[in-house]
Amino acid sequence: MAVRKTQTRTCVACRREADKRELVRFVRDADGETHVDITAKAAGRGASICADQACFEAAVSKKRLAPALRASLSEEDVERLRNEFEEALRIRGVADSRSGR
Ligand SMILES: [Zn+2]
Repeated sequence: MAVRKTQTRTCVACRREADKRELVRFVRDADGETHVDITAKAAGRGASICADQACFEAAVSKKRLAPALRASLSEEDVERLRNEFEEALRIRGVADSRSGR
């Protein structure tokens, strides 16, 4: 097995493979709570979605996020995750503009 420089992950919504830094990771922690994993380093079962609102919505509407995490997500959970996802995109946007790209 060749060692790859970058680790890729597949978006659960559109199945696009991308550098994991381009994706937003969701993680189900030991308590069974699902969160957006901004550090991408949290322990637990994870699922990745493109840093794109459309992919989040697709993952939810196609019911791909919960199975990927082996979690059950209530309406409230989805709403909370949507907010966390939007926040993650916002933070990322700020970071990107700071890096001068
Ligand atoms: Zn995607």
